[in-house]
Amino acid sequence: MAPAGGTCEEVHEPYTAVAEYNVVISKQETNSTPAKSSIVPLGQVQRGICSNAGVDALLECPVCTNLMYSPIFQCLNGHTLCSTCKIRVHNVCPICRSELGDIRCLALEKVAESLELPCRYKNLGCREIFQYFSKPGHEQQCQFRPYNCPYAGSECSITGDIPTLVAHLREDHKVDMHNGCTFNHRYVKSNPQEVENATWMLTVFNCFGRQFCLHFEAFQLGIAPVYMAFLRFMGEENEARKFSYSLEVGGNGRKLTWVGKPRSIRDGHRKVRDSLDGLIIQRSMALYFSGGDRQELKLRVAGHIWKEE
Ligand SMILES: [Zn+2]
Ligand SMILES: [Zn+2]
Ligand SMILES: [Zn+2]
Ligand SMILES: [Zn+2]
Repeated sequence: MAPAGGTCEEVHEPYTAVAEYNVVISKQETNSTPAKSSIVPLGQVQRGICSNAGVDALLECPVCTNLMYSPIFQCLNGHTLCSTCKIRVHNVCPICRSELGDIRCLALEKVAESLELPCRYKNLGCREIFQYFSKPGHEQQCQFRPYNCPYAGSECSITGDIPTLVAHLREDHKVDMHNGCTFNHRYVKSNPQEVENATWMLTVFNCFGRQFCLHFEAFQLGIAPVYMAFLRFMGEENEARKFSYSLEVGGNGRKLTWVGKPRSIRDGHRKVRDSLDGLIIQRSMALYFSGGDRQELKLRVAGHIWKEE
């Protein structure tokens, strides 16, 4: 099979990049498994029961090392384990091999209930304190939780804050970085009939002191091969809403325009693509815009990012 080739060039530069990628279906769109929680002694201004590392260790399941939530089980000899692991160990205590039964460890459940703990992303800036049982729910939505790498074409498991991910995109994925709120990109693809081996590109723009990811890719929409360009914001959804962007592509006296809102990178790349929240160009139209003999895709995408007042 012929490889899907694609290049992305700055219009005003002779040549900046050659890209040849295959889209790997689909990287994990969920957040990565957070690191094991640890309890840090609370500062004097923070409320809540000051827990210590001993209690933390007691609430850790010895099998999966996650914190245990009700119901917490124990064997006849008092070894505890979480309800998820209990199902997996087939009624045998993983520590002493005795029969497990259905003995709850109510004392430990009560201790857990009484605890108030800081969010696990405390070190990343979250100041909130939670009751033990409401902590996991918050942590799934905590705005300080790390972001997933926005690069779409590989199974990349890197997570981090925005500055970390920007450096990671530049250094590890060799993503082009541009300054400015307007851009003019040309996408060239030598064999536009090969949509299955989709080409895609990522470019990052620094604009208003923030970073935006411009995605461009080919995929099969139903039976129709299409190209799609869309913007994602490297930050939270509520911040993303403060920005708008436009994309324009045309040729031969015709033009398509898209005006939209960048999506937060909290929304996975596939999710945004599948919701068709961007500029979509049918392949036949894209080839028409390209001019020539339809053997090569040459799209010039002009864009603009602005801030809503
Ligand atoms: Zn467990
Ligand atoms: Zn046991
Ligand atoms: Zn938090
Ligand atoms: Zn990555």
